[in-house]
Amino acid sequence: MISKILVANRGEIALRIIRTAREMGLRTVAVYSVVDKNSLHTMLAHESVCIGPAKASESYLNIPNIISAAQITKADAIHPGYGFLAENPRFPEICDSEDITFIGPPAPLISLMGDKNAARLEMKKAKLPVIPGSNDVVVELSEAKSIAKKIGYPVILKAVSGGGGRGMRIVRSPNHMDEQLSIAQYEAKAAFGDPSLYMEKYIANAHHIEIQVVGDTKGHVIALGERECSVQRKHQKVLEETPSPFIDEKLRKKIIKATQDAAVSIGYQSLGTFEFLVDNEKRFYFMEANTRVQVEHPITEMVYGVDLIKEQIKIAAGEKLSFPHGLQMSGHSIECRINAEDPYTFIPSAGKIEFLVLPGGQGIRVDSAAYRGWTIPPDYDSLLAKVVAKAPTRREAIRKMQTALEMTTIVGIKTNIPLHLNILSNSDFKKGNYSIQFLENFLTKKAARSKK
Ligand code: ADP
Repeated sequence: MISKILVANRGEIALRIIRTAREMGLRTVAVYSVVDKNSLHTMLAHESVCIGPAKASESYLNIPNIISAAQITKADAIHPGYGFLAENPRFPEICDSEDITFIGPPAPLISLMGDKNAARLEMKKAKLPVIPGSNDVVVELSEAKSIAKKIGYPVILKAVSGGGGRGMRIVRSPNHMDEQLSIAQYEAKAAFGDPSLYMEKYIANAHHIEIQVVGDTKGHVIALGERECSVQRKHQKVLEETPSPFIDEKLRKKIIKATQDAAVSIGYQSLGTFEFLVDNEKRFYFMEANTRVQVEHPITEMVYGVDLIKEQIKIAAGEKLSFPHGLQMSGHSIECRINAEDPYTFIPSAGKIEFLVLPGGQGIRVDSAAYRGWTIPPDYDSLLAKVVAKAPTRREAIRKMQTALEMTTIVGIKTNIPLHLNILSNSDFKKGNYSIQFLENFLTKKAARSKK
């Protein structure tokens, strides 16, 4: 039984969780840093507790303060959202020792997937195809060169503890290995406190395809249809859609089955996402698994008519998955991540929202913590709103999204809406003809045109 949930997060995801918890008749507690005192999640939870200064390491990452907030408010469960503490296995361990239910997978599963190289090797054992690469952490230059020679250039160096598209370096020839290895180690240490790297073959023009997994504590594990996340900038997702225009029914069935079998073999519990690269020959390779709710989970909710957070809460309370035999997908859904940033230089744009009109109407969902008069603090990521469209066909979903974004007005800060409108009207995008190189190529061409 869960009766009161503390949400250890901020922004749109905190609000998203509070919304479902309230619908379920549960009490909610928000935690906030001093600069988030006037944030929507702080105002819309039943109770709120200040947990420290703006700096995340002293507030949203501060486990003792968050646990104290739960104890003071008598919250019996904690939802970590995504980012911050969501994939830190110490957090569920501490929750457990304090008799607080952690709404997420058990600590050992988080630990396993948190080491991306170990996860890769484990999934290989579970018969998921993995990208050819190193079997272990790569430290020395000679070692890196000999592995790269074996798998063939180009290769990609990736941080074992990486995430958020950071700590990755593509190496195109042996001459560049020395330099790229040092930079990647330095970046990994700076961003994740761990310089360990592993190596994979770099797959050009691939598709980033991911599968949503939901597992309960009674042994039911279901894998749902794919999210296409190939519209990326600097390895970070910008727009996602489901189903993927690139994946046919045969391949879909194959990836879902392989994921479900692998998830069953490790006893997956709670929400999780298995990420794959799919090459031009439609071969799929496991990349990593994220043991939390993803930013882009709403598109899956839209086409399956399910509330994934509700399932996650029920599973944490020991209840059975409400769809133990799977679900039927219908229609097409697209999500645009609206960031507070310059659409082409990508420089974050914090500040006061002077005027705000968010889109709505049939088939449009907006997950956002923005409101008119709110001053966006510069201390956190720049995600301002997720605009999600659903329609019977891909074509209609694109039109619906275009209309929604054209009718959105945000004054006072810059956003990347112009970039989204450019993507949505691009002829290759409209044909569904795009890979992970699409946005970088598009931006390079655009920059060249504006120089002329
Ligand atoms: P993170 O956890 O930081 O998001 P991922 O392993 O999920 O890192 O990779 C993020 C993105 O980086 C992928 O979606 C893809 O665009 C690119 N990438 C990662 N590995 C490869 C690879 N072996 N070949 C080509 N691109 C890759």
